[in-house]
Amino acid sequence: MQRFPYKGKTKALTMKLLLDEMLKKAVRFLRIFGMDAEFAEGRKDSELLKAARDSGAVLVTRDAELYSNCVKAGVRGFFVKSNELEEQLAEMKNGLGLEFTFPEKTRCPSCNNPLEVVPRSEVQGLVKPNVLEQYEKFQLCRKCNKAYWEGSHWKNITRIYEAAERLSRGIPDAISHST
Ligand SMILES: [Zn+2]
Repeated sequence: MQRFPYKGKTKALTMKLLLDEMLKKAVRFLRIFGMDAEFAEGRKDSELLKAARDSGAVLVTRDAELYSNCVKAGVRGFFVKSNELEEQLAEMKNGLGLEFTFPEKTRCPSCNNPLEVVPRSEVQGLVKPNVLEQYEKFQLCRKCNKAYWEGSHWKNITRIYEAAERLSRGIPDAISHST
């Protein structure tokens, strides 16, 4: 695995990613981990290349042909080898030098807008009364007006985050893929 070809923290933090449709699951997690990640659904290769070039995004793909077209067109691309979510995240982290900002800074998994930590009073009416009662800290997407909290999915998100971190340091993930 290639490590940190792009030097400098600032670059990685402001890096925009454009992922192809084979990486749909990874997009949501990248956003939760704080990365600026857009998802390109149902677009032709030529349109993807244009979108990446216009927005200055790195085109992240599982498609070897698309990656080679990227190189030919002079568009910055990154080829993901693994089929496993945790490994894909680790590959991107290392290969692109990403600095995940989870759990301090996260983005909306649905729309990529940065989330804001808000008090309970701000999400009244957006979440069920029992959730409102049970949690104190909420994160709000002001773009799609969705509230997030450390509920039942949190454990799974944290597990995937930790697995990706371990894998990116070259430590095998003991939990997943054992069955
Ligand atoms: Zn949103």
